[in-house]
Amino acid sequence: MLRDPLALKELFIARSDADDERLWVPVSPITAFRPMFLSASQGYWISLTRVRGHGVISRHRHPGLVHGMTLKGSWRYLEHDWVAQAGSYIFEPPGDVHTLVVDEGPEEMVTMFQIHGAMVYLDDAGAVTAVDDVFTRIEQCRAHFAAVGLGADYVDQFVR
Ligand code: FE
Repeated sequence: MLRDPLALKELFIARSDADDERLWVPVSPITAFRPMFLSASQGYWISLTRVRGHGVISRHRHPGLVHGMTLKGSWRYLEHDWVAQAGSYIFEPPGDVHTLVVDEGPEEMVTMFQIHGAMVYLDDAGAVTAVDDVFTRIEQCRAHFAAVGLGADYVDQFVR
């Protein structure tokens, strides 16, 4: 059987743990993400989230589903009684609201998240403060990769 001409190009990352700081897009003084797969065609994205430090990272609501796999360190949600650590898998259902906390520890936290739809950031009163979707993520990557000298179009390899 022949490959369908409409099939998208495959995406392969040989070393998602490659030690190249330019690949990490900072979103706060202690939080950064590394894009793996940015699905503009289907409205979701897969990235590594890295936290170097501790504290409340964000309170947010998910209109769409999330899958998460923790690779390093640990983290938790204030609203739940479990602690994610290396090897933990989490499904976050559409409609869930939670507050991500990283406690003080010896190791940075790295988690792969597959996020569908959007991240809706909330303040303590529940008011929306910001929204991210695959398109804002692509724009953040473009700006960052341009600033570190990789070129804005470096992000294109992660987009389908
Ligand atoms: Fe979440």
